[in-house]
Amino acid sequence: MRKVALWAVIAGALAWVACAPPEPREPPHVLLIVVDTLRADHTSLYGYERDTTPHLRKLAREGTIFARHLVNAPWTKPSVASILTGLLPPAHGSQWGDFNRVAEGAVDVLAESFETLPEVLQRHGYTTVAMMTNTTITPEIGYAQGFDRFEQIGADLTSDRRSVLGAFEALNAASGPTFVWCHVMAPHNYVLPKGRKRVFESETRTPILRREYYGPKMWNSYGFRFREPAIDVYDETVRWVDQGVGALVRRVRETHPNTLILFTSDHGEEFGEHGGYLHARTLHSEILHVPLVMWGPGVPRGRVVDELSQSIDLLPTVLDVVGVEPPAEVQGRSLLSGGEDEPIVYAEKRNGRNLMRAVLTHDGKLLESQPDGTPGRKPAKGDEGTWHYFEDPVGPDRESRLGALAPDELTRRQARLEAIWSDSVALFEARTGGESQRAIRDEEIEALRALGYVDDEASGDGPGRGGSGDETGQDPGDEPVGGASS
Ligand SMILES: [Zn+2]
Repeated sequence: MRKVALWAVIAGALAWVACAPPEPREPPHVLLIVVDTLRADHTSLYGYERDTTPHLRKLAREGTIFARHLVNAPWTKPSVASILTGLLPPAHGSQWGDFNRVAEGAVDVLAESFETLPEVLQRHGYTTVAMMTNTTITPEIGYAQGFDRFEQIGADLTSDRRSVLGAFEALNAASGPTFVWCHVMAPHNYVLPKGRKRVFESETRTPILRREYYGPKMWNSYGFRFREPAIDVYDETVRWVDQGVGALVRRVRETHPNTLILFTSDHGEEFGEHGGYLHARTLHSEILHVPLVMWGPGVPRGRVVDELSQSIDLLPTVLDVVGVEPPAEVQGRSLLSGGEDEPIVYAEKRNGRNLMRAVLTHDGKLLESQPDGTPGRKPAKGDEGTWHYFEDPVGPDRESRLGALAPDELTRRQARLEAIWSDSVALFEARTGGESQRAIRDEEIEALRALGYVDDEASGDGPGRGGSGDETGQDPGDEPVGGASS
């Protein structure tokens, strides 16, 4: 494949593959597009001053945009599990470890006892296909449940292109209702096609410090010494993805009008807002706030929803359109039918050093950061941690204003958070017996090492390779190594 103009090739292929629109039929196809690592405020869809998503921005006027959509976890593994199950992280339990950290000998799996979205759809006659470009989301840890075809592609730009084209081909080849998961990785990886003309160039230079979390990884893995060039490249990847995904959405709407399309992400990305880079480390808005746009049958055109929504709502929303009851334990709700109750969002980080939990409502975000646990072990819930309160649930989280909450109001919100946690843990225990980890076998480690998935320096992993999200990536040193800004 030529390295330039990948999307031009795909646009041609999309046009060529397309045939006459079929008669609309029930039930609809479902196309779920997940762009890995896409924070809402770096898309012009959500008002970013750089026009990173011109294609999707135009298309979004013909669908519904959810202005305050949040993920339930700060990195791929638990976040995707919430999309797949409609369950919060403490309920599905898939939060710790991946094949980059086999040294610990155990990884969480997504337990077979949960019914995933593709499983429910499959039970109702759907063909189910995943075009998966995140190499840490594997059948070996339970993520292919319910997929007739789970295509594990690479994680480079060619793979993104293949995912988009494969998604369209799967719909074109459909002989009945079909569910397709199209996963795209470019913003995660800070890579662009060689020779692509760049339009975003910052002039300011803020050093990336070695003591900032993942600062060393920004230096060593991505070659960034300064913050703004990293943002420039990230924004360019978003613009590149917008071209391909925009073309996919447009063509699917033209040729398969009876398709419910959802466009979203699994988490955002840090650019030094809270002392670090990349993701998996915090529950601040740059990580939790991601896009959600929907088009298709049952979806109002030109609507902007300001209510909070979250990843666990996707499963009940899709099933609502399809006309199928969700599994009884599902914790989300349909975003199309609405509800009387105020939406309550819960997010959790249970990786890296410690457990973090947050509960968000329209009038603020209460966040708890628990003390550090044992390095290399899945963090357990221990003593009460430090509490923070931010008045805007999708604001910049600049300053915690815990004092702004009356004492009884703080107590009420803390109790709400604890109730969500304990209900979820009870659900997890009832469905799994309290255990959903598996040991890794020696031959698997060898096979994975041969494929380059094993990071022998256990401390060196991180989300840069879709890793476990251990924030201890490198020892934070005191020395600023970024040089002077210019
Ligand atoms: Zn991700």
